[in-house]
Amino acid sequence: MTGLGPERLSLNTATVRAQWTLAQCVDGCARHAIAGIAPWRDKLHEMGVTVAARAIRDAGLQVSGLCRGGWFTQSGRLDQTVIDDNRRAVDEAAELGAACLVMVVGGLADASRDLPGARALVEDGLAATLDYARTQGVRVAIEPLHPMYAADRACVNTMRHALDLCDRLGDGIGCAVDVYHVWWDPELEAQILRAGAARLMAFHICDWLVPTRDLLVDRGMMGDGIIDIARLRGLVEAQGFTGLNEVEIFSEANWWKADPDEVLKTMIRRAAAC
Ligand code: ZN
Repeated sequence: MTGLGPERLSLNTATVRAQWTLAQCVDGCARHAIAGIAPWRDKLHEMGVTVAARAIRDAGLQVSGLCRGGWFTQSGRLDQTVIDDNRRAVDEAAELGAACLVMVVGGLADASRDLPGARALVEDGLAATLDYARTQGVRVAIEPLHPMYAADRACVNTMRHALDLCDRLGDGIGCAVDVYHVWWDPELEAQILRAGAARLMAFHICDWLVPTRDLLVDRGMMGDGIIDIARLRGLVEAQGFTGLNEVEIFSEANWWKADPDEVLKTMIRRAAAC
């Protein structure tokens, strides 16, 4: 397996979230010959969806995913405003020609201890969103999050759980595999095999630092931590995944303080060893 070149990379805008607007991210990808981009919706809305879609097309970039839909659980019931927002996210993903709409499904409802209830809500919310996404030709990708986020971000925490949901929900839904969230899972290999090409919709890379000093914003650059990214990439590619390798690094103390062009250069250099 050869290392990754920039023609196989995508920049998740979170990686330079503190430094760059979406327009600057698009220019930066073009300047560094990075093949794709994955916008977060706050940056997308700042720029305007139609303007952004045109800029991304004009720069010749692929969109490896739109971050993010989901967040179904907060009020403790299936909230119409949340469903409507997810429909808008589907529309935006369609306009961008995104490979998928990434779903961060939500944790426990506020002040709740009802984990089974939250998981049931997630399934209902995904079903409602998927019904609409199918009509727009948008693929929905559940991103299982590391279990440390089960309370406040996502109560789907393993590939097995995500794929169980996919099995029940049918076509058009799969997984976003983020190495940061799933590297530890002893079932990972078997579940990637189970997913197959059609349900492997995104592959996010970064590294797990030891020690990790913050649950959310202390992700590492590839090569600075303990994840065997090359092995995990080999597993998804062996199943037929041909999408871009999306670099998604939340790093308040380090990469968000760096010169963003240096961040992109470092990304490219480090990915070559993955
Ligand atoms: Zn991710």
